[in-house]
Amino acid sequence: MGAKQRERIVRYRQLSFIRQGGRCYYCNRRMWERSAEHRLDAMRRLGLTRTELKFRLCTAEHLQRKADQGTNARKNIVAACFDCNQSRGETCPTVHKANRYLPEPVQDDPEIKQIFTRLKNMGPRTAPAIELYAKAKFLRTAQLARELGMEVAL
Ligand SMILES: [Zn+2]
Repeated sequence: MGAKQRERIVRYRQLSFIRQGGRCYYCNRRMWERSAEHRLDAMRRLGLTRTELKFRLCTAEHLQRKADQGTNARKNIVAACFDCNQSRGETCPTVHKANRYLPEPVQDDPEIKQIFTRLKNMGPRTAPAIELYAKAKFLRTAQLARELGMEVAL
């Protein structure tokens, strides 16, 4: 693979990282992006030890595996933690996600917290609730991108 291809994959990995709110496509845990933050900052932000951090490194994951003729096209690349990337093997992405997915509590941002408190008192499938949820999701992503000094390309 040439340098140009590698650069493109890194760019797609970064875009996926931002679009996924810094979370792994499979397990939903928070990852760190080595092009945007220092290892020590990531340890602090995620509250992880040096060893744990290694498993939460953001990697470019090919949904259709390279071994199965998957390409480096944008739509074939998502951001996955090193742990999920390594453990996938020949498993199909949907099954791997179902096996790995972990719901995680919301970050402590006061504005996001407030939204979720309001959401608790609303019918879950009402239009205002769906709109509020989308706002919380956007805020969380924008907050993370800001923390990392990355441009938001949603
Ligand atoms: Zn993962």
